[in-house]
Amino acid sequence: MGGRAIDPERGIGHLRLADLDEDQILGARCAACDYNNWVNRWDIGRKYASGATLDDLRPLLRCTRCGNKGNNGWRIGRINRDSEWVDVQPVSHRGGI
Ligand SMILES: [Zn+2]
Repeated sequence: MGGRAIDPERGIGHLRLADLDEDQILGARCAACDYNNWVNRWDIGRKYASGATLDDLRPLLRCTRCGNKGNNGWRIGRINRDSEWVDVQPVSHRGGI
C-alpha cells in the first residue's frame, strides 16, 4: 500500500513556541517506532529561544523509547483537566507584555 496518511505535523512547523496558547501542549512522535510522548514546552522554551520554530527544534527530538533522532514530528495538544496525560508542569513562563 503506497498511501500516505495526512500528516498534521507538517502544518505546524512554522509555529514558534511563543505562538502556542497557554493551554496548548507539545508532543513528539517518533518516525521509527511511532512512539508518542508529550514534552514540557516551557522546559524547551527555557533552554531555547522562544522564537525558535518547531521546524528549528525538530532535529533536536530524540525518541525516549528507541533513540531515533531522525524525522521525528511534533504534535500539538490541549490540556484537558480530565485527561490522564496532564503531566506537564504548570511552570509559569514570563509573559511578553
Ligand atoms: Zn522511537
